Amino acid sequence: MTSTLFGPSSDVEEFSKVLQSSRRVLALCGAGLSAASGLDTFRGAGGMWRNHQATTLATPDAFRADPGLVWLFYSYRRHRALQARPNAGHVALVKLAERMPDFITLTQNVDGLSQRANHPREQLKLLHGTLFDIKCFNSSCNYVEQDNYNDPYHPILAIHSAEDDRLAAAKKAADSSTPDRIANMESATTSQTPEGTTRIDPADLPHCPKCKTGLLRPGVVWFGEGLPADTLSEIDEWMDRGKVDLIMVIGTTATVWPAAGYVEDARARGARVCVVNMDSAELGAAGQLQTGDFLFEGDASKILPELVKSVAGDVESEWQRYLLGLEGDER
Ligand SMILES: [Zn+2]
Repeated sequence: MTSTLFGPSSDVEEFSKVLQSSRRVLALCGAGLSAASGLDTFRGAGGMWRNHQATTLATPDAFRADPGLVWLFYSYRRHRALQARPNAGHVALVKLAERMPDFITLTQNVDGLSQRANHPREQLKLLHGTLFDIKCFNSSCNYVEQDNYNDPYHPILAIHSAEDDRLAAAKKAADSSTPDRIANMESATTSQTPEGTTRIDPADLPHCPKCKTGLLRPGVVWFGEGLPADTLSEIDEWMDRGKVDLIMVIGTTATVWPAAGYVEDARARGARVCVVNMDSAELGAAGQLQTGDFLFEGDASKILPELVKSVAGDVESEWQRYLLGLEGDER
C-alpha cells in the first residue's frame, strides 16, 4: 500500500506508526461508534418515537408541558440501550485509554456503552450527558445520581416499555413482510395506542430526594440547554496542557459546535486528524483533511480494532472475553 501524494491517507500501517509515536491523543465520538451495537439515535428527520418527532421531546419545554411523555421516551431509550452491547469499537478506545495515560475520549453519545465497556472514567468526557444519570429539573437544585442502570428507572415507566417492545416487534415483522401487511400492521398498532392513553400524572413521577419539589429528569443535554460546564473546562484544561499529536473523529460529522471547534483547536496545537466514518456523505470535517491526515471509511467497530492494534493489542479477543463475561453475569 502506498500513501497518496495529496490529501488524507487510508493506510493502516502508516496510521499505526503515527499512533505509536503519539502521546497526547483525543477521540471525538458520535452515533457511528454505537451503530454496530444496533442503537437508533432518534436524530434527523426519520427520528420518530410513537407518533412524535423525537427532537420535539428533547427540550425543557416539552418536559414542562408533559413530563410523563418525555420520561416514557427516555425510559424506552434507556431500555433499548441496556439491551444493546458495547461493540469492539468501544473496547478499542478502552484499551487505548488504558495504554495511553494522556488519551481522552470525548463522546456525544448518551447510550452508556463506553461506560459499560469499562472506559477509564477520568479519560471519558460526556459532552451530552448520559441516559443513566438522573438529575433534578429544578434549576436551583444540583442533585445528580450517576450511573443508575435500573430498567425501568421507576415502576410507573415499566408497562410502557413493554408496549414499545411490542410495537418494535410488530414493526420488525412488518418490515420483512408484504406492503399489504405493513399497512394493516400500522393501522393496527396506531389504533391500539391512541394519544392520551400513555398520559402519566406528574405527581406520580419520581421527585428529587434533595429539594423534594423538583421532578427528576434524565441527565442528558436537551436542545436549548448548554453543554455541561465542568466537562467543557476539563477538556479545555487538557487542551491547554500543550501540543496535541492526534485527534480521531469517529462516527460523527464534526461540523457542529463544539465538535467542530475541537478539531480546529487540536489542529492548531499540531494534531493530525483521523476521520473514521461509515457514511461517506456525512464526512463533515473530512472535507478539510490534508496531507498527513487520515480517512477510513467504514464501520468503526471493524476499523478501530485494526487502527489501535499496534498500541492496544488484540481488541477483538478482548471484546470476545468481555461478551463472555456479560453472558456469565446474565446466567
Ligand atoms: Zn432537587
